[in-house]
This record gives sequence, structure tokens and C-alpha cells, in this order.
Amino acid sequence: MPGRNLKSEKLKPAMTFLFNSDAARGQVFRDILARELPDLPFSMDAASVDPDAVRYIITWTVPPDLSRYRNLEVVFSIGAGVDQFQAAKIPDHLKIVRMIEDGIIRMMQEYVTLAVLALHRNWPTYILQKQSEFWNSLPPVQAADRRIGILGLGSLAQASFDRLKPFGFPLSGWSRSPREIEGVRCFHGESGLRTMLSETDILICLLPLTDDTRGFLNADIFRQLPQGASLVQVGRGQHLDYEALLSALDSGHLSGAVIDVTDPQPLPAGHPLWKHERIIITPYTASVTQPQTAAVAVANNIKRLRAGIDPIGLVDRQRGY
Ligand code: NDP
Repeated sequence: MPGRNLKSEKLKPAMTFLFNSDAARGQVFRDILARELPDLPFSMDAASVDPDAVRYIITWTVPPDLSRYRNLEVVFSIGAGVDQFQAAKIPDHLKIVRMIEDGIIRMMQEYVTLAVLALHRNWPTYILQKQSEFWNSLPPVQAADRRIGILGLGSLAQASFDRLKPFGFPLSGWSRSPREIEGVRCFHGESGLRTMLSETDILICLLPLTDDTRGFLNADIFRQLPQGASLVQVGRGQHLDYEALLSALDSGHLSGAVIDVTDPQPLPAGHPLWKHERIIITPYTASVTQPQTAAVAVANNIKRLRAGIDPIGLVDRQRGY
């Protein structure tokens, strides 16, 4: 037909959601987004999608060819953190949104509670004693005398406090800006950190990984904790100076650690962290995005964006989280 422009006739959806992660979770996202946002085209196939139609992408790492999506508006992280994005690779005009969803929160509540109770009730010692068939009961410490401190007072720390409160542990937390949380002594700034560390028996790291927090769990931090304190490391592997941790454990200043994240991941065979008898290691399994709840959270965020409201979990590029 004269004048017919085949290119313009190509079916171009108004905006497409591109799912760039594993297919099993993608199927769940597909179904839930179809229910929540029936007008939003969905694709799991970066190779065949019209790049100009893509407005939203959800991914774990930044695709090397991100610039081909010329109408992209939002990059959603499939995980709670965004450190893996190296935000400099994402053009400034794009919104970056991290994952805040009920499944991640619930799993982190379980993990933190489990780790705190295991340390509080001396399980690392009892696991060792079992290996040598040694029956020996340690003096019990009451929850009211076991002080818990969390580095970071974000969504996961606050949810973890909710689970810990009923046990009666004295609770503290530290953040960048001042916070108020019922039942939690909140600290901020350098002097606040010093005070909290000096009064913390179980220290939990729930910080995001940024330029300010890389290597944060170091000899200086461990030195400020009381004798016999222990660590729960659920932030990111690069927060931890593992040699400093091993020294603090070997000297007896720290009594144990539960570690879910390492650098590198997976932790290679033969790494000293594997071998230390007072360290419990889990393979980055504390909390995992649950597609059923995550898809609902993303759908709600797209509805907010359409209404001109900032999405929940919008990353502040200056702060890096
Ligand atoms: P949020 O962004 O909600 O909270 C981060 C908190 O850390 C805020 O309270 C913030 O302070 C504080 N913070 C950030 N930088 C500093 C700093 N330089 N000094 C002092 N405080 C600081 O994060 P989430 O609670 O959602 O998640 C926390 C982290 O947990 C993730 O970034 C990730 O690293 C980790 N994670 C680990 C998982 C696992 O399976 N192991 C799973 C999911 C998350 P302020 O309140 O002032 O902004």
C-alpha cells in the first residue's frame, strides 16, 4: 500500500514492565501484575521486547545494554539492597527503587530472632561441646541482661525489633539521622555509636553497603564492644573486615558470630571464616525476595508512580541507599 509505514504499524505497547530475573519468580510477577495492573504489558524476554516500550525494569544487576531502553523511567531492584547496581551506571534521570516487601521483612525477622536467641542461649558453645561429648551447662543470662544493638534503623531493623521486644532484651539502634522508635534507645552520630557499642552484647549489622559503611565492622568497632559480645552480620559481605573479626574471636574479646553474608560470595573452600569454631555461617539466606508479596509491592509502587507519588523504597542517590 502506498505510503504505508511498516515501522509505525508495529504494535507498540504504551509502557511495558520488563522482568529481568529468574523465570520461576517471573511467572508469579506476570500473574500478579496482570491482576493488579491489567493495562500494563509484561515481558520476561529482553531479546524480543520493543526497547522503546520499556518503562519499568526489575533486575538484580544493571543490564550492560540499559541505554537501549530509551523510555525507561524506573529501575526496580529485585532485592532489598541496591549496592549491586553501582548506581553510577544508571543515568541520573532514572528512579532507582529498592525492594521493601512483606516476605523479605518476615524472613529477616525470623533470622535475626533465631541468631539472637542462639547466641543468647550459648548455642555456639553447646555445638562445640557436643562434638567433644562434653555435658556442661553455662550460667544462664536473663534476656533483661542481654543488650541488643542494631546498626541501621531501617525497615528491616525496625521489623526485627518488633519480634525481639516480647523477649525483654534491652534494645538499641544506631542510624545516620535521629530516629524515635518506641521501646528502642535510638542513637546517631559518632558519639551515639560509641555509647551504643559500649552497651551492646549482641551487635547486629543491618546497614546498607555504601561508601560510608564499607569495612564498617572493623577492629575499632569490635574493641568498643564489651568483653564477650557477639556479632550477627546480615548486611553485606563488604561491611566486614573478617581478619579483625577472627582476631577479636581468637583473643576472646568476642565470643561468637553468626554470618550470613561474606566477601566473596560464595565463600571459597578453605577460607578462614569456614574454619573458625565460634562462627556460624549461613549462605546468604537470611532473607529472600518472595515473589507473591514482592509483585504486590511493585504493583503498588507503579500505582503510586502513576498517581505522581514517590514509590516506597525510592533510593536517594546522594546517600547511596
Ligand atoms: P533501609 O534503607 O531501610 O535502612 C538503612 C538504615 O541504615 C537506616 O536507618 C540508615 O540511617 C542507616 N544508615 C545508612 N548509612 C548509614 C551510616 N553511614 N551511618 C549510620 N547509619 C546509616 O534498609 P533496610 O532495613 O531495608 O535494609 C538494610 C540492609 O539489610 C540492606 O541494605 C542489605 O544490605 C541488608 N539485607 C540483607 C539481606 C540478607 O539476606 N542478608 C536481605 C535483605 C537486606 P537513616 O535512618 O538515618 O537513613
